[in-house]
Amino acid sequence: MRLSTFRDVIGHQRVLGLLADEVASPANAYLFVGAASVGKATVARRFAAALLCPDGGVHTDACSTCRRAVSGAHPDVVVVEPQGRQNLGVEEARSVVSQAVLTPVEGPRKVFLFEEAGTMTDQAANALLKTLEEPTGSTVFVLVAESEDDLPATVASRCRTVHFGRVDEEALVEALTSSGIDRTRAENIGRIAGGRPGLALALVNSDEAARFREAWLSVPGRLHPAPGEAFVLAEEMLAELEPLLDDVDAESEDRTTRERRERNRRRARQTLLAGGLEILASWYLDAASLQLAGMVRNRDVPFDELTSVTPERAVRNARMVLDAMSGLALNLRPRLLLADLFAKLASED
Ligand SMILES: [Zn+2]
Repeated sequence: MRLSTFRDVIGHQRVLGLLADEVASPANAYLFVGAASVGKATVARRFAAALLCPDGGVHTDACSTCRRAVSGAHPDVVVVEPQGRQNLGVEEARSVVSQAVLTPVEGPRKVFLFEEAGTMTDQAANALLKTLEEPTGSTVFVLVAESEDDLPATVASRCRTVHFGRVDEEALVEALTSSGIDRTRAENIGRIAGGRPGLALALVNSDEAARFREAWLSVPGRLHPAPGEAFVLAEEMLAELEPLLDDVDAESEDRTTRERRERNRRRARQTLLAGGLEILASWYLDAASLQLAGMVRNRDVPFDELTSVTPERAVRNARMVLDAMSGLALNLRPRLLLADLFAKLASED
């Protein structure tokens, strides 16, 4: 069964089915984990709506409860977020604890949405534990994080974990084209977004997507083993992110606070950089594949460029790029990480 509140969610069929089954008797706490911008918070809001909806989120047109829950205007949906600072601290946690004992304003229960649960401090986690442990039946917690390791184990172990994967690229491109976006544009956005609908939708009105992809596809032809050159190229690729980030910013639904916008921008930068590195990795995979008579993904790259590296080096380089992506996930400084990667990609040994 698919709930109508999930109608506009792109991908995640398995997760949506699983959550639909939970609505009738939900657990006390859920933890949604998966890569940035894959749609965890989008699904969380719609799940909250279904939990409050008099029709359990099943109707032809969204009711007032569902609409308000999704837009964040329902009194029984409490969005818990870091106040100003980067971390979700003990004050916010205490405020949740005191609100959790209150009777819901309209519906059968209150839903607390932690859209950035990964920023929770240990003190905040300790303050929340008792509330998480003693279900009242009238509260549901939905915590959203990129990984279970991002939040204290004491909290994670008390939640039912729901894993979100990347959305299939073709499904994402289909969703974009069926919403009226031109196929070429949708494909460009799909490549950059790397299975993250949140990023894809933020880029829908950007004229920069095609240029961004071309810039990353041009990297192999511009590599030079000298560290200084690699550094200059790294700076340039980081600068390529800025116009896209401005467009993502303009599309953002959250205009609540400057701090929140800055956090969103920081996350979007990380995500876009991962998207750029994926494009670069796909260039090398194409180079190997073409020479081994396989499929080529980036059909607009000239064949003589792709054959300029041997298949062995192409495979080696693709692996280096993917390793760099793990470094990015570990929050290594992107400028140094890219410069180091570009120098290694250019080296002969
Ligand atoms: Zn409803």
